[in-house]
Amino acid sequence: MSTTAGPLLALDDEFARELEGLYVPWRPEPVRAPRPLVVNAPLARELGLDPDALAGPDGVAVLAGNAVPDGARPVAQAYAGHQFGGWVPRLGDGRAVLLGELVGPDGRRRDVHLKGAGRTPFARGGDGRAAVGPMLREHVVSEALHALGVPTTRALAVVATGEPVYRETKLPGAVLARVAASHLRVGTFQYAGVQGDPALVRRLADYAIARHHPQAADADQPYLALFEAVVEAQAALVARWMHVGFVHGVLNTDNVAISGETIDLGPCAFMDAVDPETVFSSIDHGGRYAWGRQPLVVQWDLAQLATPLLPLIAPDAQDAVAAATPVLESFVARYDRHWARGICAKLGMPEDAPDGAALGHDLLRLMHAGQVDLTAGFRALSAAVRGDDAPARALFADPAAFDAWAERWRAALAGPGRDPQATAAAMDRTNPVYVPRNHLVEEALTAATDGDLGPVERLVDVVRRPFEERPGLEAYAQPAPATFGAGFQTFCGT
Ligand code: AMP
Ligand code: MG
Repeated sequence: MSTTAGPLLALDDEFARELEGLYVPWRPEPVRAPRPLVVNAPLARELGLDPDALAGPDGVAVLAGNAVPDGARPVAQAYAGHQFGGWVPRLGDGRAVLLGELVGPDGRRRDVHLKGAGRTPFARGGDGRAAVGPMLREHVVSEALHALGVPTTRALAVVATGEPVYRETKLPGAVLARVAASHLRVGTFQYAGVQGDPALVRRLADYAIARHHPQAADADQPYLALFEAVVEAQAALVARWMHVGFVHGVLNTDNVAISGETIDLGPCAFMDAVDPETVFSSIDHGGRYAWGRQPLVVQWDLAQLATPLLPLIAPDAQDAVAAATPVLESFVARYDRHWARGICAKLGMPEDAPDGAALGHDLLRLMHAGQVDLTAGFRALSAAVRGDDAPARALFADPAAFDAWAERWRAALAGPGRDPQATAAAMDRTNPVYVPRNHLVEEALTAATDGDLGPVERLVDVVRRPFEERPGLEAYAQPAPATFGAGFQTFCGT
């Protein structure tokens, strides 16, 4: 049984107070020999916590689940979900607990959640645990996304348990302490929706409005406005993923957050060469969650969010569908708008430039045809703006195709009073040099699994400053060598 810890983390239990019926009170299962692998100092400071105290014995005891902060009421959250399109009425936190919420110096409320914290009543066949590699992957990738300006949950710590977990092989175990705007998911609404208790869905919706989308409370139809706010937040999120080549990997409805943060970073990875069909996850045989399909599947997931909300939107089912449908359909235009704004910035153009989206689509088509690396390809464009086309041309097997595109691009870029140096500098603030390259992530996770944290620490340091080219880090900017390439697969942590 976990013990009670002192005032290191003052956690609130608002979710537990307000949303009875959507959780089981549950304490993390202590681990044998907790040892911190990562304490995220920048995040700790942002939360008003002392990183050194977190890394000390009392802090580690909490982060590992061996002690529960005084006053906290940890719970395992209930949720349902569509997994690869198939309905599962009861998923829930099988290996995680929500310790409680922390209100930071910025006034924002965030969940502190432990993943790999032992079996819960939702565990089904699982062992409740997690391995070091996947938990560190979540840390590396979420730090990268955060630095790239993409909303995401983050790791406050990864603590080795000193206990083995058995997957294909015996692996060292770890607990991830995760911080999130909340863990409300599309699947949370789906779960509430099938409990036969309309008041529960209403309580959940009211809670989600208050916590994430407070402007919806003032709308004529608050629940329709909540739906619209989530559609908008997800459209913005997916557009950002697309700009940086991020492939989430498991966009089941239980992995889509109401807050609009990236959540549940399992078999996720960044794409090298542009290809809409890019899939890394070993279980995604049909390519349902391929890079290029993400906008479509997230809209599908949002349709599943509409179902439990319909009775709140209007008493008559047909009226409710008539009201929700245009909102769901608006995802496409919202996504297109976010995508176009971002691509204009990547191309050095004002965010409402009329030619931006077409130029962006055409460039991506050329990159796909030429198997050009997404990150390197966009970064090379700033050199072109500074007058040197060579780095960009060198990436294209058919430089003439690039030249023809670049001519149109230059014509669109030219404008009175536009300073190429300022344009290039702005592009360098939006087109990263460094993303967590798959071969480097794999190398770093393998080393960490074998006890050497150096490569993970170096990789995190690199991806935390993605826009600033630093001497000596050339290898981090390169795509995977051909020997690594094509068959690369990622695996769920289960
Ligand atoms: P995920 O693939 O991490 O999104 O998890 C899908 C579902 O499986 C969730 O309900 C998880 O809590 C559960 N799950 C995943 N891994 C485990 C595990 N090792 N033990 C218990 N439950 C798990
Ligand atoms: Mg999940």
